[in-house]
Amino acid sequence: MDFDVIIVGAGLVGASLATALKDSGLHIALIEGRAPAALSQDESWDNRIYAINPANARFLEQGGAWSRLDQSRIAPVHEMHIWGDDAVARLDFSAYEAGVEELAFIAESRLMQDGLWRVLQEQSNVELFCPAACAALEVDNEAAYLSLQDGRSLRAKLIVGADGRESWVRAQAGIEASPRAYGQDGVVANFEIEKPHRNAAYQWFREDGILAWLPLPGKRISIVWSAFDALSQELMALPPDEFCRRVQAAGRNTLGALRLITPPAAFSLRLLNLEQLVRPRVALIGDAAHNVHPLAGQGVNLGFQDAQQLARVLMQKESQRDCGDYLLLRRYERARKEDILSMQLVTDGLQKLFNNPDPLLRTLRNTGLSLTHHLGGLKNRLIRHAIGELG
Ligand SMILES: Cc1cc2nc3c(=O)[nH]c(=O)nc-3n(C[C@H](O)[C@H](O)[C@H](O)COP(=O)(O)OP(=O)(O)OC[C@H]3O[C@@H](n4cnc5c(N)ncnc54)[C@H](O)[C@@H]3O)c2cc1C
Repeated sequence: MDFDVIIVGAGLVGASLATALKDSGLHIALIEGRAPAALSQDESWDNRIYAINPANARFLEQGGAWSRLDQSRIAPVHEMHIWGDDAVARLDFSAYEAGVEELAFIAESRLMQDGLWRVLQEQSNVELFCPAACAALEVDNEAAYLSLQDGRSLRAKLIVGADGRESWVRAQAGIEASPRAYGQDGVVANFEIEKPHRNAAYQWFREDGILAWLPLPGKRISIVWSAFDALSQELMALPPDEFCRRVQAAGRNTLGALRLITPPAAFSLRLLNLEQLVRPRVALIGDAAHNVHPLAGQGVNLGFQDAQQLARVLMQKESQRDCGDYLLLRRYERARKEDILSMQLVTDGLQKLFNNPDPLLRTLRNTGLSLTHHLGGLKNRLIRHAIGELG
């Protein structure tokens, strides 16, 4: 079977690339290992919740997915309050002050996945192979050749690895990856809250990790507690009531009593920076291409930007080039590397800065936070970056 592009992995990032190529005239094969999870009919909330920046919400809308999502399950963020670890230092961001409608949208992974999936099923230039398992990949000057375990063979000018952090495509292409473990887990859970959150997000840089509370629709929040392994294990072993009390106290009782509505889950955190995002006829996007600390909620946002950039490069290609032309793929790589690296430097640097017990550093970081709070220009620039207006 002949295609222009094979995308391996129909997670949020791979699926968003396929939707972004809807008017490209390219014939696309989308390979996904897992059958799509049906959206549950009950009211349960996914424990994978993402802060999506407004620029990426617009990108998903261009592909036709965002407006298909049940908007009653998405919460806009109007304010963000960040505290240092000295109980005084504080940094506030407000959409109103910045002259924008919202700083981010908080949405469930499952909801977005379902929206993208529904768009793809109607998209005439995409052929879905799902569930399907990859068996072998070969690449030569002419094409990339993918064999599936069920015996089918696919050929395309370009193969895209959108297959997550343990990327099979990356390994097959021989792109070396040396991730660095943070020794931390992202502990996630959803809660009902006593007091209204007023669409505010909260973050505490604590001695034992970084805790974020994100607003969900109604009187609910989702949390990500980036906790060192020992604390993560302790938290995960707590009975529900005790877990609620710990999260409530760590968040300084800001929203009153908490009641757990989805069981906690823990995801190991790591940093992955690749020398190469492309090889002739091979490109990586999303978590296959980079892993960042979730403290800034930017992992999938970076992935959507990869998808957008790769789609742009493919759609603007000169007629003499095919989709897997190395010079074309290098344009994608060059356009993305700086953005990825700067996000990694910021998140990694903050993570190190706030997880260091040195009293001098403690004073410095908290002073820095308070200073930023009073520097309107810097604050505004940080907001523009967070909402995706500055690349
Ligand atoms: C605790 C935590 C909180 C986070 N919070 C945020 C946030 O608020 N905002 C944000 O932007 N990011 C956040 N992130 C990051 C985000 O989770 C990831 O960046 C994002 O899920 C990556 O999406 P992806 O599509 O690249 O990869 P994945 O979601 O891993 O999708 C990969 C897909 O490929 C499929 N696949 C894998 N191998 C194969 C194969 N061999 N053949 C076929 N299919 C295959 C998988 O089944 C899957 O569907 C967070 C991460 C963590 C751990």
